[in-house]
Amino acid sequence: MFNTLSDRLAQTFKNLRTKGRLSEADIDATIREIRRALLDADVAVPVVREFTGQVRERALSAEVSGALNPAQQVVKIVNEELVGVLGGQTRTLRFAKTAPTVIMLAGLQGAGKTTFAGKLGHWLKEQGHTPLLVAADLQRPNAVTQLSVVAERAGVPVFAPHPGNQSGADAEYGPVIGDPVAVARDGVETARQRQHDVVIIDTAGRLGVDELLMRQAADIRDATQPDEVLFVIDAMIGQDAVATAKAFEEGVDFTGVVLSKLDGDARGGAALSVTGVTGRPILFASTGEKLTDLEVFHPDRMASRILD
Ligand code: GDP
Repeated sequence: MFNTLSDRLAQTFKNLRTKGRLSEADIDATIREIRRALLDADVAVPVVREFTGQVRERALSAEVSGALNPAQQVVKIVNEELVGVLGGQTRTLRFAKTAPTVIMLAGLQGAGKTTFAGKLGHWLKEQGHTPLLVAADLQRPNAVTQLSVVAERAGVPVFAPHPGNQSGADAEYGPVIGDPVAVARDGVETARQRQHDVVIIDTAGRLGVDELLMRQAADIRDATQPDEVLFVIDAMIGQDAVATAKAFEEGVDFTGVVLSKLDGDARGGAALSVTGVTGRPILFASTGEKLTDLEVFHPDRMASRILD
C-alpha cells in the first residue's frame, strides 16, 4: 500500500533539495507533482484540491526558518497536511457509560466486515472485555456460519438465529432466515442479560449500494442505538470509495471508518479520501486475513509511513 505514492513524493522532495531558495515557480512545480501523485493514487479530486491548496498556501507563506531548509519545510507542511487529511488525532473506540457498548458494522459485501468483526472481538477480549458477536447479516446464506467460524477462532461467543428458523422472515429485505432487525435487537438484549460489555453487530452488505439494504441497516441502527457505527471499506476500492462512503454516510450516518485490506497493493486513494469526504475518522486498519492483523489507526504514523 502507498508504495508508488511514497516513491513519487520522495522523488518530488529530492528534486527540491537541490534548490537553495524556493521561488513561487518552484513551489508550483512541486504542487503539480504532488497533485499528480495523489490523483494517480486514486485520491478523490476534491480532497486533492483542498490538500494541494493548503500546502501551496502554507509553503508560499512559510517563514525562512534557521532549522529547516526549504525542502525540509515543504516536507514538514506536507506531513502535517497529510495527518490532517487522515483525521488529525487518533480517535479511539467510544465506550458506553452503561454497558453494553453497541458497535454496528456496515459496508459493501466483501468489504471485510465479518473478518473485522472477529478481529475486533479478539482485540477487545485481549483488553479484558467480554464481547458478543451478533450475526445480523442474514442476506448471504453463508454469512452466519462464517461469523460463527470467525467467532470461534477469536474465542468470542456469537448470537445467531437458528438456521432452521424461518419465522420472522421479512419479505421486504429478500429471502432471509429471520428478521435481521429482531436478531440485532435480541442480540443486544442477550448481551445485557449475560453481561457482555460490548456487542458487535455484523450486518448485510450488497455488491453495490442498495436502497433496501441501506434501509435495513438504518433500521438495525435505530433498533439498537449503537455507540459506534463503523463503516468498513476495502482500501482496494479506488475511485469508488467516495460514492460508496457518501452513500453510507447518508444511509447510516456512520461514526467511524475501518479500512480493510491495507495489506494489499492498492494505491491508497480510499484511505486518503474517506475522512476528507465524510469528515469521519478512521479508527482501525485491517491488514490481513489473520485474527491479529488489526491495527488502531494513527493518522500521524500513517502519514510518516507514506513520507518515509
Ligand atoms: P464481508 O462480506 O464484508 O463480511 O467481507 P468478509 O469479511 O467476508 O471479507 C471478504 C474477503 O476479504 C474474505 O476473503 C476475507 O478473507 C478477505 N479479507 C477481509 N479483510 C482482509 C484484510 O484485511 N486483508 C486481506 N488481505 N483480506 C481480507
